[in-house]
Amino acid sequence: MKNSTDLKKLKQQIATRAKQLGFSFIGFARANQLDHCKNRLNAWLENGYHAEMQYMENHADKRIDIAKLFPGAKTVISFAHSYFPAKEQDPETLKIAKYAYGQDYHHVLKKKLANILNMITDNGYGSGRIFTDSAPILEREWARRAGIGWIGKHSLLITPKHGSFFFLSEIITDAEFPYDAPFDKNYCGTCTRCIDACPTNAIIAPGIIDSNKCLSYWTIEHKGEFGTNTPEKFSDRIFGCDICQDVCPWNKKSIVHNENSFAPHPDLLSLKKEDWKKLSIDHFNILFKKSPVKRTKFSGLTRNIKKANG
Ligand code: SF4
Ligand code: SF4
Repeated sequence: MKNSTDLKKLKQQIATRAKQLGFSFIGFARANQLDHCKNRLNAWLENGYHAEMQYMENHADKRIDIAKLFPGAKTVISFAHSYFPAKEQDPETLKIAKYAYGQDYHHVLKKKLANILNMITDNGYGSGRIFTDSAPILEREWARRAGIGWIGKHSLLITPKHGSFFFLSEIITDAEFPYDAPFDKNYCGTCTRCIDACPTNAIIAPGIIDSNKCLSYWTIEHKGEFGTNTPEKFSDRIFGCDICQDVCPWNKKSIVHNENSFAPHPDLLSLKKEDWKKLSIDHFNILFKKSPVKRTKFSGLTRNIKKANG
């Protein structure tokens, strides 16, 4: 039987291993129900702010009660891994969101978390399950509860040291680790830069995004042709949108990731607007091999390029 001293020691070892694996922040939260998020989530869904993302309606109960995803859950270990690149695309070209420059983070992070989960299971501390944006989990709220940062007006998690360009992922375990204090402050203050900069007014209230207006939704999630409800201008976005994060003052302190798999194909950074117009399927496959951009397929990306070019 492992006692609390053992778990305290293991917690420190996990934090050390997480740093070695490239995570910037890690925190441990008690796996309680998120009842206080229920009304907000339901109101968001009832207002239809999830647009055509039907999957958001599914498993709403699991988002609130994590034990429905992992029975016996005691601790949610939350991890933040930077995806801020050393070099960005030309400011004048059509833009891919920074998180999608390199290989798909789901696979990259899963391997890292598997390494950490083994530290728990192999030593008989308990069992666990890995989540990399792959199940109905309120990831930002868990990161906040684990003490990593606060949820900004653009709805993303902001770490006070290095801003918001982070992938979040979790291990849920039945091991009862010592918990970290939740991050109860919100340092957005009177700032409204993200709200003011959003080209489609998609941030309808602090922390609330109407996906029907958001360019991330339209360039990634929306299937098929665009319609009369599609925003008129795409502000040069062809896969995702970083505008609300780019203007956030906390991102002046962004930390460049140290993960080779997240590095872009060298051609990606040099493509000009006119090059995107001529993108062939072969070049698409080379540029985005193993990338999240593959999600739109060539047809989706060329649809977005046409729209962004007006
Ligand atoms: S991702 Fe772009 S469109 Fe969506 S809320 Fe942020 S700035 Fe607005
Ligand atoms: S831009 Fe300002 S309001 Fe928006 S998330 Fe950053 S600090 Fe908060």
